[in-house]
Amino acid sequence: MKKTFKKSVIFGIAVVLFISITIGILLFNTNIGDNKIIQLSAQSSRQMMGYIIITKNNNLIVIDGGTTEDTENLVKQIKNNGGQVDAWFLTHIHDDHVGAFTEIINNESINVKKIYVSINEFQWYEENEPTRIEFTNKVFDLLSEENIKQKIEEVFLNQIITIDNIKAEILGIKNPEITQNAGNEQSMVIKFDSGKTTFLVLGDTGENSSKKLLEKQKDKLKSNIVQMAHHGQAGATEELYNEIKPNICLWPTPEWLWNNDAGQGENSGEWKTFETRNWMKELKVNKNYVSKDGDLTIKIK
Ligand SMILES: [Zn+2]
Repeated sequence: MKKTFKKSVIFGIAVVLFISITIGILLFNTNIGDNKIIQLSAQSSRQMMGYIIITKNNNLIVIDGGTTEDTENLVKQIKNNGGQVDAWFLTHIHDDHVGAFTEIINNESINVKKIYVSINEFQWYEENEPTRIEFTNKVFDLLSEENIKQKIEEVFLNQIITIDNIKAEILGIKNPEITQNAGNEQSMVIKFDSGKTTFLVLGDTGENSSKKLLEKQKDKLKSNIVQMAHHGQAGATEELYNEIKPNICLWPTPEWLWNNDAGQGENSGEWKTFETRNWMKELKVNKNYVSKDGDLTIKIK
């Protein structure tokens, strides 16, 4: 009688242990099996763009980051995810994209290993974007600081950069010959690939660089996830989106812009957001993640 009881207890403990270990392994595996994309939301009323990709083994990739007003939130997100940026991609040097970067890059509590850019000579910006020259000057000064300079790499077309399990292919670089909508049309275009999911970042790509992408990279454009160009309006063309054929759209778009609201309610503005929203409806996109809804984390395989 006593022996049987002892056996049952041992058997019981073994069963509990087995179940706990199995659950533990399953949980651990789902944690390391996923990559994540965090879409950052605007911390001011201005439009902005910022993304963090967290790789399988918790390496961090930052794309742009937003305005100076978005600095605190970006620092918080980076620190919550380990505090080290393995690769920082700057699509173009407008302040709604790299304002926060200029504040953070000298922050000693964050370690940035590599910075990827595609930037013209200063003179090009003087000639083509004179109204933005003060901020451009600030960026150039920062990037020429000795400790930062050594981390910068100017990317080239179809370069592949590997960060942990993620491959980033550069599909678009600066286009100095495009001088209309000049600054936006210099946007770096990056295709991130986890092996199972592709994520295309367009920055503020406009009409002319859309054409160029269709000419030069047509067979590489198809992607599961796309970042909507130029905050979702007056950016990339319908033809480009038709070629990308996304299932999921990430919109770096505040509420007023999402609703084309200039202050008098829906559609009181002159932005083209509804046009782009309709294109995505026609493409039967499964899911739209819009930054007006706050910081969003998207788990991907
Ligand atoms: Zn922008």
